[in-house]
Amino acid sequence: MKIRDRLTLMLSVTALLAVSMLGLAIYLSTAQFHKKEFFKRLGERVQLTELIFLEKNEVISEAVRDRFLQRLDLEEEYAITLKRSGLDSLNRLFYQGLANELLKQDSVLFWQGQRQGMAKRYSVESGDYAVIVTALDVFGLTKLNFLKKILPTGGLLCIGLLVAVGWFSINRALMPLERKIEKARRISASELGLRLNVFNPRDELGQLAMTFNSMLDRLQAAFESQKQFVSNASHEMRNPLTAIIGEAELVLSKERSKQEYQEAMEIILQEAKRMNTLTQQLLELAKAESLSTLPDPEKISIEVCLVELIEKFPPQRLRLNFQPCEDDCYIIGNQYLLHTALANLLENALKYSGSEPVSLHFAVEPQRYRITIEDRGIGIPPGEMDKIFQPLYRARNARGLKGHGIGLALSKKIIELHNGSLFFESNVGQGTTATVLLPFC
Ligand code: ADP
Repeated sequence: MKIRDRLTLMLSVTALLAVSMLGLAIYLSTAQFHKKEFFKRLGERVQLTELIFLEKNEVISEAVRDRFLQRLDLEEEYAITLKRSGLDSLNRLFYQGLANELLKQDSVLFWQGQRQGMAKRYSVESGDYAVIVTALDVFGLTKLNFLKKILPTGGLLCIGLLVAVGWFSINRALMPLERKIEKARRISASELGLRLNVFNPRDELGQLAMTFNSMLDRLQAAFESQKQFVSNASHEMRNPLTAIIGEAELVLSKERSKQEYQEAMEIILQEAKRMNTLTQQLLELAKAESLSTLPDPEKISIEVCLVELIEKFPPQRLRLNFQPCEDDCYIIGNQYLLHTALANLLENALKYSGSEPVSLHFAVEPQRYRITIEDRGIGIPPGEMDKIFQPLYRARNARGLKGHGIGLALSKKIIELHNGSLFFESNVGQGTTATVLLPFC
């Protein structure tokens, strides 16, 4: 069921319940009011009857009453002695049990079909009497009958009006949503640039559209980087392949000496090795990218990790500045992956700074460790700072040097898996500082 239909149904049921309850409340309270009012008037009539018939009041005689005091509709009055014979006629005239009730309490209110009645016990010189007045509340009944007719019709009209207004408002409110759905349907991989209109950024639909648009922004960025990756990958693969094919065609174009064959094979082998390294790095990156949590985490000493790392690099080019740990410095990590990430950064610093020394700092900060690798190399052009983490991306000034542009993407992913962060500061021609922050374990 569509939201519009569901809301309309809910509105109709709510309107039906609310209007019915309101109608019922109006009817019952009116009935109650008239009943009470009429019993009150009956009470007055009972008193009057008692004055006239039992106390033989001379001021209010029967004639005065009939002439000047308004009688109730179809009013009947009785004054019945509460002796044996009177009790029987009480039960017979009204209902079985009235006599008993009247002996127990002073006054009794009762219904006789549609008529209302009041019986009151009085004691006069000649004995105990019951004064009873019954009458028909014609005005009340007419009013209630009128309500019985008017309330259902009025109620139905109200419900109809409420549902119509509700349906119109729901339709109006959902219209922008339908337009958004229509537009969202048109957004495909080839039209990822389309965005939903945001009319009111503060209402729910505006917020939904903004969230959807920002999701599209992220998707578009992911698509773009995927496209860039495929184009870079094919470019990187094509270079060694072109070299291999060219060399093979050249050497096979005519008879060659043994040495020429050997030289050609060496070139082919070298290019094949390049391709091999590239595919291995790509595989490693794909493996890391597919991880959402760190595999085989363990408690590792960051100092031991750094010492093992520097052993693999030429010591004469390294300048170390390690802040000693008071207790041992540990992180929860994967030794192999962390080693790979830091080795990439150190390798880059050495590669892109010729023969200049590279400084490796280690410091303990509140809640985290800071590792900085600082070189005085070629630096990274400012416009390319945010691209160097894309797989296979190489800055313009680095393309003359060996490399495939995978190391940084891999290092970043690994450091993020360790809940850490990696960032670069660089000045072209002056050098680069790579900073790694890792949380305490
Ligand atoms: P590679 O070094 O194999 O090209 P990376 O992924 O390790 O690939 O680095 C990506 C790019 O970032 C490099 O091509 C280079 O342009 C830039 N880069 C990384 N580290 C440095 C550095 N220390 N100095 C200058 N440029 C760097």
